[in-house]
Amino acid sequence: MSKTIIIGGSAAGAAVAARLRRLDEHREITIYEKGPDVSYASCGLPYFVGGVLPSRQSLVVTPVKAFVGKYNVNVKTLHEVTAVSTENKTVTVKRLADNTVITDTYDSLVIATGASPFVPESIQGTSLPQVKTLRTIEDAEKIRQAVTTGNIKSVVIAGGGFIGVELAENLAHAGVGVTLVELKPEVLGIMDQEFGRLMTNELTRNGVDVRTGLGIKGFSTANEEDGEVLSVELSDGTEIKAGLAVMALGVKPNTAIVRGNGIELDSRGFIKVNQVFETSVRNVYAAGDNVTVNHLVTGNSVSSTLAGPAARGARIIANTIAGVDGASDFPGTSGSGIVKAFNLQAGITGFGEEYLSGTGLVKDRDYFTAFVSQKSHVAWFPGAGFLFIKGIFDKQNGRILGVEAVGSSSVDKIIDVASALILKKGTFQDLTDLDLSYAPQFNAPKSPLNMLGFTAENIFLGLENQVGVAEYLKIAEGRDKNPEADDGYYLLDVREPSEVTALRLPHFINIPLGTLRDNLGEIPKDKLVLITCAVGVRAWNAARILAGNGYRTTVLSGGSSMYSLYVK
Ligand SMILES: Cc1cc2nc3c(=O)[nH]c(=O)nc-3n(C[C@H](O)[C@H](O)[C@H](O)COP(=O)(O)OP(=O)(O)OC[C@H]3O[C@@H](n4cnc5c(N)ncnc54)[C@H](O)[C@@H]3O)c2cc1C
Repeated sequence: MSKTIIIGGSAAGAAVAARLRRLDEHREITIYEKGPDVSYASCGLPYFVGGVLPSRQSLVVTPVKAFVGKYNVNVKTLHEVTAVSTENKTVTVKRLADNTVITDTYDSLVIATGASPFVPESIQGTSLPQVKTLRTIEDAEKIRQAVTTGNIKSVVIAGGGFIGVELAENLAHAGVGVTLVELKPEVLGIMDQEFGRLMTNELTRNGVDVRTGLGIKGFSTANEEDGEVLSVELSDGTEIKAGLAVMALGVKPNTAIVRGNGIELDSRGFIKVNQVFETSVRNVYAAGDNVTVNHLVTGNSVSSTLAGPAARGARIIANTIAGVDGASDFPGTSGSGIVKAFNLQAGITGFGEEYLSGTGLVKDRDYFTAFVSQKSHVAWFPGAGFLFIKGIFDKQNGRILGVEAVGSSSVDKIIDVASALILKKGTFQDLTDLDLSYAPQFNAPKSPLNMLGFTAENIFLGLENQVGVAEYLKIAEGRDKNPEADDGYYLLDVREPSEVTALRLPHFINIPLGTLRDNLGEIPKDKLVLITCAVGVRAWNAARILAGNGYRTTVLSGGSSMYSLYVK
């Protein structure tokens, strides 16, 4: 009888075991898992810390006993694999209860060991008991216990990625003060800064003390009486007192046990696998946070430390081991991710503009961008949320390189549809052609993604130009500093005067759209006219009027609605 050993029993490992059993009733399958559970939901950990998920049990998708009953798998929890020999086809296992060591043999091996939190050695004091990480249920229990039963008043989170942001929201809900420290200029550094800024502002609005552009130098004990026993030194010399700190600075793969076995790793220690997740050693497979996979946009190998690719990789491994004929290979990942904190959702698929320009691509030569401000469903129906969406497209063939969205609802729909198009090498023309479902509660006859496609097409055809809010703020700052200098722009706001009174964008001159044709004489023809309105629609109409009268124009992306969330 063939025998499969799976190292690691959470997302990828448990999924391989379950499908493999469904495909092969008689194979011997053993999971070695160093923790006490298999099949648990890491993604729920921040919500357990914050009390949204009430108990440890709510994080365990299938308890060990039920897993064994359902799948007839040998589940060995609290068993750590300490070595692998691909030559002898053996694993060395330490039983953590009594440290006894056994050796087990396999015909096929699955390395589903995941990743561990990355804790830089350059940061002093990370071994202090008050400095935590969040990867396992036990980690979450410690943090939750400290904030609910200890006398901790505040927590410092290092890192403003998805986990740091989710944790900030949950700790704030748990009633402790939260300081979030992020090295990049805004949180959610995977997204472009204008979107990260909206999340930074949302956290700040909800009481999180966000310190961006700063790193953590070190931790030391503070000997305070009031529970704030940790002193956190930031890179600018500032000192923060806290009861606890959580490191959320990314992950490193758990692959030490396979080194020196002929299993090829990349320079960062991730396992290289082929399209069926087989490593460079035959019959040895790996999936999840410890591997690199093909990126659908660039064709490069990337680590994809997200649950979706882990689950799909597991299915393909089971198909391959069981010898299922004709099953699909793994095409790659689009790196789709989404996060919500307080009243804001943010998501990305493919790459943001800043990432792409960092790889040497040049705007308007290699790629172009389009930005739309939309509602989650038709504005006239109650409950419509706001949505800002940006697409990045190949300048030559219009292919979608990335889509980012931030809003109060429906961000998942935007990201998921865009991700499906990326999978099929879709273009902005495909966005214009999308035939999506519509009823007033759900969408609009011209859906937000149609609108992104229409705008991209206008830009591609040279009918429209856009300027981002950050660029406008630089123009405004230049005028504040040097009012006499000619920056080459005429700033035109085509909203109604009452809207301008409610929210004035510095340096814009107000000529409402309805009176624009009568006031063309006010606008100098030698300037580039930067036009704004509330979201961009009236500005686009104004741009066409002006273009028809010989003006050069550009539109402020997202108008005053984006500006208002960006500057506050
Ligand atoms: C707080 C948090 C929130 C997240 N939120 C999201 C989200 O919202 N969306 C999303 O897509 N992804 C999210 N993720 C990422 C997602 O959880 C991972 O991508 C996914 O769990 C990867 O699965 P895996 O099987 O590779 O690793 P894991 O789920 O980490 O499983 C690896 C298992 O291997 C075990 N193991 C390791 N080494 C050994 C050994 N030597 N011997 C025996 N056992 C071993 C570990 O104990 C662990 O149980 C989140 C992760 C965290 C930590």
